[in-house]
Amino acid sequence: RVKHGGRGKACFFNAEMDEATRARRQIESELRHAITRNQIHVSYQPVLDAQSGEISGYEALMRWNRPGHGLSEPDIFIPIAEESGSIVQLGEWVLQQACKEAARWPLPLRIAVNVSPVQFMLPNLCERIEAILKETGLAPGRLEIEITEAALIRDRDRVMATLQRLRSLGVHIVMDDFGTGFSSLSNLRTFPFDKIKVDRSFTGMLDHDAAARSIVRAIIGLGHSLGMPVVTEGVETETQRQIVVEEGCAQVQGFLLGRPDVEPSTKLAARETLLSSIA
Ligand code: C2E
Ligand code: MG
Ligand code: MG
Ligand code: MG
Repeated sequence: RVKHGGRGKACFFNAEMDEATRARRQIESELRHAITRNQIHVSYQPVLDAQSGEISGYEALMRWNRPGHGLSEPDIFIPIAEESGSIVQLGEWVLQQACKEAARWPLPLRIAVNVSPVQFMLPNLCERIEAILKETGLAPGRLEIEITEAALIRDRDRVMATLQRLRSLGVHIVMDDFGTGFSSLSNLRTFPFDKIKVDRSFTGMLDHDAAARSIVRAIIGLGHSLGMPVVTEGVETETQRQIVVEEGCAQVQGFLLGRPDVEPSTKLAARETLLSSIA
């Protein structure tokens, strides 16, 4: 009897697993055609200068309009694309699209693009980025590549070579989601980053958690002493914004200041008109 119950449970578990695996396979196969079926686009979220409040750039965020499912969450489909390898094609498409779009903006703002650890390990990543910059005409100094600590754990010599090559092109490198990895401090010492982004989980705790504020203060202090400006992402309330500005954060990003948007250029054009009327 006990044995039978145990087996029944195992069967139930397997049936669930099969369902999850099927769903995953389905996403994998749909993702392979997502670009050619025009289901992928890029949304742009503003990054603001903390002092002046002016837009200093945008982060490109991948969006997948999955038929029958609406907009699919990157936190769900990107890990699947990383595992199946589709992220290489998808990531390159976003890079190309974002650079092309940014090259047309009426103001020479920065464009930040997320690069997956899988893409980061590709031997031809630097060549591809160089080619995209040439094709689109975007000045390399306007491009920021965002990587997380997961990109740093493999072959550290190769990671270093890639980072240095990108920097020698003039491209900026941002450490994204800082504070969630396991060896954050030594990574900052070892690798040449231009900027640090505090993970938004800390930002979310700022209004009611004194410890979160201490952590953010420590990260900003660390950034300053290493010559790396610090950005706070996920700013949702005025209190959070005030706290991070008081703590000396250089840039802010979050729903309070602007949501990801498919058409930032119209706002930029309006700002250019404003600027030229002042000048
Ligand atoms: P990330 O690079 O840390 O991007 C910031 C995420 O935080 C975005 O989620 C953005 O919409 C969200 N966000 C911004 N402000 C706020 C806020 O005030 N509150 C909250 N709750 N969220 C905020 P999104 O677009 O869903 O992307 C999630 C993650 O997926 C990204 O995190 C990044 O790791 C990955 N991702 C997105 N686009 C790409 C891409 O083109 N390539 C790669 N490799 N990864 C991407
Ligand atoms: Mg990012
Ligand atoms: Mg982040
Ligand atoms: Mg993230």
